[in-house]
Amino acid sequence: MKQRRGKKHSTGNFKTKSSVSYPLPIILQPSAFKIHPSDFRLQPSLFYPFFRVGIGNDVHRLVRGRKLILGGVRIPFEKGPLGHSDGDALAHAICDALLGAAALGDIGRHFPDTSRRWRNASSLLFLREVKKIIAKAGYGIVNVDATVELERPKLRPFISRIERKLAVALGIKPGQVSVKAKTGEGVDAVGLGLAVRSEAVVLLCMQQRSSEP
Ligand SMILES: [Zn+2]
Repeated sequence: MKQRRGKKHSTGNFKTKSSVSYPLPIILQPSAFKIHPSDFRLQPSLFYPFFRVGIGNDVHRLVRGRKLILGGVRIPFEKGPLGHSDGDALAHAICDALLGAAALGDIGRHFPDTSRRWRNASSLLFLREVKKIIAKAGYGIVNVDATVELERPKLRPFISRIERKLAVALGIKPGQVSVKAKTGEGVDAVGLGLAVRSEAVVLLCMQQRSSEP
């Protein structure tokens, strides 16, 4: 970011201890968050933890004899994901995105598949626990955007329910969660009906000042 001295910038600015003023993008102007400008004087590195983006993905093999659960919603189908827990690839990808955004590891670190505690566990439990972990670190969820790749069955009739279920588990509004569905177009493991895959991106916002820079 370009540094400016003295003269105020038209989009707002704040001063650090070294008297260097940093122009603020519109979205980061203190008025947008009802934060007093003095809040920005504590550390020049405040931008670092304010917003944080995270990405996650997951894939599970589809086998007979397992329930197909995505975002906590049971989808009628003859196959389901093989996994230690319920194999909810969508919930797992979102967990990884949330933990990644806060630089707090991944789902395997917090819920190891060697633990009997998580055997056949509902992945909504993971989402609720991850929400607590990131909240403890001082972050709130701005939004979640995810895609599920599955050749069959069609997920469109279930998308609204999945979004609502995820929102409840994360303690946010349904409008903060977006889930999209795609097929594998007949290619790769998804396209051949052998696997379900999911990707997720999340944005976190700092809700309280972290003690770390
Ligand atoms: Zn998984």
